Amino acid sequence: VYHLMPPDHVFQGHIEAIRERADLIDEAYLLRTLAAPDRKGTSRCQVLVTFDDGYLQCVSESSLVLTRRLDVHPLLFVVAAAVDPRLGAPHRLIKARDGMVPPLAPIDDLRAALRSGWTIGSHTTTHWDCGAGTDSDFHWQISGSKEVLERALDVPVRTLAYPFGRRRNTSDKAVACVRRSGYVAAFTTRRGVIADGFEASPFLLPRDVVEPWWGPQEIAGCLAGGLDGMPAWR
Ligand SMILES: [Zn+2]
Repeated sequence: VYHLMPPDHVFQGHIEAIRERADLIDEAYLLRTLAAPDRKGTSRCQVLVTFDDGYLQCVSESSLVLTRRLDVHPLLFVVAAAVDPRLGAPHRLIKARDGMVPPLAPIDDLRAALRSGWTIGSHTTTHWDCGAGTDSDFHWQISGSKEVLERALDVPVRTLAYPFGRRRNTSDKAVACVRRSGYVAAFTTRRGVIADGFEASPFLLPRDVVEPWWGPQEIAGCLAGGLDGMPAWR
């Protein structure tokens, strides 16, 4: 998972490093494979590129040109408040070097990303920490964001990423709400791979955070499992 799109040459270097060791897949492929792991048909490692929060910078024209040229189909997790500001102000997004929160992509830019082969998942309604909340908080944040995004973008929203993504940012109540709301899978930021025989819940899938300073070597080390078990899942 990325938050911001790295410079073109850095992202291209990451993708090339991934392709030396793995196949790049899209959301549809991942969901098919989760449903029927026996039909995967390859022993090669597979990587789905995701972006969290939905910053405008990630889906700029140049970024979409780049992902089309590299034939990458990222999954972008967006907050529903970005497509309908009446839903409230998102909490605790990242800050850029200038101390400002980068702008979120409005609906036209999200539609452009869809046309470029990206898919869109939910990152809750207002970037909610799913570690705590009432039933109605979770309903509004998890089920509500799915409905808002599906209506606004006219596509099914099948996946969710928990904001902040650590264990303490998820809860049994949130996972139950994700399942009840009709999502097919949900992602944390616990490092690791979904291996054959993976038995954890499809609603608590692991992901590796790509740090902004990473080059191809760090990507390679990460794919080799060098970071699995790092104490990031707290
Ligand atoms: Zn986030």
